[in-house]
Amino acid sequence: MINLVLFGPPGAGKGTQAERLTEKYNLVHLSTGDIFRSNIKGGTELGKLAQSYMDAGNLVPDEVTIKMLESEVDARPDAGGFIFDGFPRTETQAKALDSFLNSKRTEVTMMLALTVDDEELKTRLLKRAETSGRADDADPKIIENRIAVYKKETAPVAEYYRKQHKLKEVNGVGSVDEISRRLYEAVEDHG
Ligand code: ADP
Repeated sequence: MINLVLFGPPGAGKGTQAERLTEKYNLVHLSTGDIFRSNIKGGTELGKLAQSYMDAGNLVPDEVTIKMLESEVDARPDAGGFIFDGFPRTETQAKALDSFLNSKRTEVTMMLALTVDDEELKTRLLKRAETSGRADDADPKIIENRIAVYKKETAPVAEYYRKQHKLKEVNGVGSVDEISRRLYEAVEDHG
């Protein structure tokens, strides 16, 4: 079983690359952002709870996010492996994921971290706002907040995996194909 954590700041290209990795390695793709957005669309209780946090560019509380992620994993008992996109985003989430996967006798295989500089991120997110319809993409102040939240709460998660010798940093600037190739190399380089 191979379980990949795809990591990087907002706008790093996680969604695009996750789809490619999912196909290539026959994984189940779990994007916490997508799951929250579909709950908002569907008007569920979870969606109502998540919306105010997301619109402001803040993180949804750990307890809620962890519970949701675990139930998504449990709903796919036949999966050959997962790609976690947008999770874990805090150290608490990373620890919860470790113990959850351990209880299923599996583990995170590696974290693939896409690196992209701040200026490039802002340009990409504002461009995405033209088509995504996402409130959190449209306002430069909210984008700044998401990048700030990333630096403060999420970036330390990379150190968590570095300590476990599971962190692989991949240059996230270039063409989509180039970046995919770099990611495949990083995956195949593993043991
Ligand atoms: P991006 O990576 O571009 O910020 P996502 O779709 O991954 O977009 O996330 C959008 C929003 O969803 C985040 O700003 C946050 O509010 C919420 N979210 C997604 N994943 C998590 C998570 N693991 N923990 C808490 N909040 C999350």
